[in-house]
Amino acid sequence: MREIFDMWGRMSVKEIMRYNGAMLPDDELEKHFRLVKTQKAALARLGLKTICDLFYHFPARYGEVLPTKNIAELKKGDEAVIRGRISKLEKTKAWRKKIPLTRAVVEDASPAYGGASGTIRVVWFHQPYLAEMMKEGMLVELRGKVTEDKKGLYLANPTSEAHARQAHGGAGARTLLGDSATDTEAPLESIYPESRGVTSRWFFYALKRALAAGAHKKIPEYIPDDILKKYHLPSLRAALVWIHQPKNIRDAEAARKRFAFEEVFFIQLARQKARRAYKANKTFPIRINPKETADFIKRFPFELTHSQRDSVHAIFDDFRAEEPMTRLLEGDVGSGKTAVAAVTAYAVVTSRPENQTFGNLQAAVMAPTEILAKQHFESFIELFSHLPIQIGLITGSGCYKFPSKVNSLKATNISRTQLLKWVANGEIPILIGTHALIQKHVVFKDLAYVVIDEQHRFGTMQRFKLVRKDARVPHLLSMTATPIPRTLALTIYGDLDLTLLTEMPKGRKPVITEIVPPNRRKDAYEKVRAELKAGRQAYVICPRIDEPDPEKERALLAKSVTEEAKRLKQDVFPEFEIEILHSKVKPKERDLIMQKFLDRQIDILVATSVIEVGVNVPNATVVVIEGAERFGLAQLHQLRGRVLRSTHQAYCYAFPNARGGASLARLRALKDAKNGFELAELDLKLRGAGELSGGKQWGISDLGMEAIQNLKMVEAAREEAGALLRGDPALTAHPSIGARIADADENVHWE
Ligand code: ADP
Ligand code: MG
Repeated sequence: MREIFDMWGRMSVKEIMRYNGAMLPDDELEKHFRLVKTQKAALARLGLKTICDLFYHFPARYGEVLPTKNIAELKKGDEAVIRGRISKLEKTKAWRKKIPLTRAVVEDASPAYGGASGTIRVVWFHQPYLAEMMKEGMLVELRGKVTEDKKGLYLANPTSEAHARQAHGGAGARTLLGDSATDTEAPLESIYPESRGVTSRWFFYALKRALAAGAHKKIPEYIPDDILKKYHLPSLRAALVWIHQPKNIRDAEAARKRFAFEEVFFIQLARQKARRAYKANKTFPIRINPKETADFIKRFPFELTHSQRDSVHAIFDDFRAEEPMTRLLEGDVGSGKTAVAAVTAYAVVTSRPENQTFGNLQAAVMAPTEILAKQHFESFIELFSHLPIQIGLITGSGCYKFPSKVNSLKATNISRTQLLKWVANGEIPILIGTHALIQKHVVFKDLAYVVIDEQHRFGTMQRFKLVRKDARVPHLLSMTATPIPRTLALTIYGDLDLTLLTEMPKGRKPVITEIVPPNRRKDAYEKVRAELKAGRQAYVICPRIDEPDPEKERALLAKSVTEEAKRLKQDVFPEFEIEILHSKVKPKERDLIMQKFLDRQIDILVATSVIEVGVNVPNATVVVIEGAERFGLAQLHQLRGRVLRSTHQAYCYAFPNARGGASLARLRALKDAKNGFELAELDLKLRGAGELSGGKQWGISDLGMEAIQNLKMVEAAREEAGALLRGDPALTAHPSIGARIADADENVHWE
């Protein structure tokens, strides 16, 4: 931010003219902005390379432009802008010396007061980079919330600007930018997502320059005219001005609506194009014998639910079609997805390859972890053991085959080479495994069906396309327990047909859920102890690992896995074995710990939400969730699902940190909601899209997530994308759209 002013300060008028006149959307930012190292790094981190990228870095929100206040008039709770001089700058660490903390005092100079109106303390938590920019004696403009502690009022975590008008801001530069007024006269102030090294203010000025230079007028309109008209969306040109420099909130909203639509529209286009491409391949005809299928199901130790039956039929219908299936099976933890996979895999592996009177088609089942792969292997053995169908297991740490030559009831350890040989010649019709399953050297004879459990589906599908050499592609079934709202599903799964397992198997005891206030914590622990004493096991879920989240002040209050495990061992459950698990534990070790938990060598597993992934530990009957209000409802539901598979009564104790009524009301929904989908919708309503387990994991921006809240918009984008592709499958008539989709494919790394 300082640098840009410095640059204007130092540049001659001619230089500025030359730069501005030549600004093109594809130009690298460096060509027009003098960037110091930290800024370059920050822009790279935000994925911003070109002027066009800059235009698409949208304000996170709009602040009312506040008049500066006299310090003497500040009141607790005010959002205020003050100007003054920094003194007593002090950088320390707080809270057990872990959190960087910067303190200072600011004194203003107010004509109305004939000097200083007063002084106020300023405190920054966690923002050493902001502190770095502060110098003793510097004039600053600070915007922040007036907060109060024992020592009186202070400004908490203000955003800070070197005092622009006084320090820099040559009048010439401002006129050249087509801006004779000062920025404080604009009715709305765009506030941008920042990163260490570039401030919101930097973006504000950079965009002002880019717009003044007219670079936005050179970006071609992507959305066909008739669509813009139909949905009353502003043109790209207008929308770029309105989103960055809105005259009023109506314009800003119209622009945001356009970009939200645009994002969902492009995701839809990309997904539907991929779908069309996949569907255009030849696939394997599957023979479905209703009598044999019924006999197969009859041997199950349970009756299929209606939902499971419906799902099987939907998949069978796909098998009967000429095209390869691309279907997503979405169902709560414990809804019985494995059984659906098994029945449909049965139909596949009892089918012959086309024009052959011998042999069989093959099925692959992929899971994200070794433990899950092993669990699937065991489930499949249970359901297939009466049949002459061999099942293989391949993971990073070894290969197995069922049945063993010597014992027809057991699996046996075999070499990778041997396993791969039998997979390649078709002797092993069902192969279950981790990612090891799709490595290049794993070659199937007639792979007709791929089931991906709890997997990021995207990369996998593409890889399968790469791996296949002949023209035939397998039918694909993705399975997930992540409950997401319908609009999000329609968007990110635009290439998949959706089947929901909405029903739970009969006789499943609901988890007894309690929202525990702080004064009842002891009682809850005693209930947990009783379960542990009875031989059961427990999960304790904490919101973070060890260090406080450097970006979020409120993270300070969140319990960490490491500390909580220590505390539980020392103060609460000294008599039990406690182990920790979180995302920084290496996958190998993670599997080992899960295995020990499965083997009951560990009583209490203190973990972050990594244990969300569908590991089945039937003996675990208790889940304790710390800082419960920090999780989404759908996520809480999934965490609770960990103890749902038990035949014993299961319990969930949610400990909220905050006393806020709203978060408690939200948590109460956990007791009442029927399933994860209901909770996902509720989450979307109550918390807003931004909080919805972070759009980033789905490859959607915060703005795109706003669209997700609007079913009509999502459906419109979906329909329009479909119509466009039907009329122009290769997008030859829409080159700018085609280019942008190709671009997105390149830029997104799904794994
Ligand atoms: P998920 O959908 O979470 O993958 P699973 O397929 O692992 O669920 O099934 C969870 C448990 O429920 C398993 O022990 C399975 O045997 C059992 N199960 C599946 N379907 C039924 C059913 N229709 N009736 C009773 N139990 C079932
Ligand atoms: Mg499962």
